[in-house]
Amino acid sequence: MSDTVIPPGAVWLVGAGPGDPDLLTRKAEKLIGAASIIFYDALVGKAVLELAPRSARLVPVGKRSGRHSKDQRSINDMLVDAVKAGESVVRLKGGDVGIFGRATEEMDALAAHGIAYHICPGITAASAAAASAGMSLTLRGLARKLVLVTAHAKAGEELDLDWQALADPKATLAIYMGKAAAATISRQLIEAGLPADTPVLLTENASLPEESQFSTRLDLLALSAKSALGAGPALMLIGEAVRQRRAVQSSHRQASHRNERRPVVD
Ligand code: SAH
Repeated sequence: MSDTVIPPGAVWLVGAGPGDPDLLTRKAEKLIGAASIIFYDALVGKAVLELAPRSARLVPVGKRSGRHSKDQRSINDMLVDAVKAGESVVRLKGGDVGIFGRATEEMDALAAHGIAYHICPGITAASAAAASAGMSLTLRGLARKLVLVTAHAKAGEELDLDWQALADPKATLAIYMGKAAAATISRQLIEAGLPADTPVLLTENASLPEESQFSTRLDLLALSAKSALGAGPALMLIGEAVRQRRAVQSSHRQASHRNERRPVVD
């Protein structure tokens, strides 16, 4: 689709990527540029929102754990109301729409009102964190599978994960929303058989100018998460693939600045 427009009566669910606006897809950028109203999550990068037309209304509907936020039902209602009011609606979600993004609830709500929806995928946090670290998430022979898992537990409930299945030495675990559960993750994975010295990479604010990465090992994960991570979104990569990372010359930001000008070809 070269001329991305938002058809009347429909909603685009758009993946905003990990934060760096240069990591948006071209389609996402076009859709943001065509929106009259944008409902966005807390993790959508500021620089991404700056791509919206001046006339567009930007509505925060972020759900960061522990903070006041709109509940899912009121987000669904707002989407439906905006479409009925004739707006060109974009629903912007951090990373990829289909990864821990509660997209299905919103699609169901739209469908229940006979409203069409479309999805534009985005770059997920695990891909951005791995890229910054110069590592491959899969590795021939060493990491044959990649598991994307959320370690978010409902308030007051135990984290209910299949630790035995997760403790696979031939897998890379990408743990989303794992900061609060770092101690549990470390203990349970070691109990389930993963070596204590399994390498772990913590990435906070992947792809943003304030990105930081910290490498540690499974038995030191709780301590490291406490000392190395601040208030930003953080992702854990666990597994042998982490050990095989290579030095990279520059961050996403520097790389994209370097490439700003088109090379002259004559
Ligand atoms: N749909 C998103 C994930 C939403 S869940 C995606 O595909 O990336 C929110 C969690 O994603 C955060 O708690 C954190 O674990 C991770 N995350 C999102 N953006 C991130 C970033 N820029 N850096 C590190 N982790 C990030």
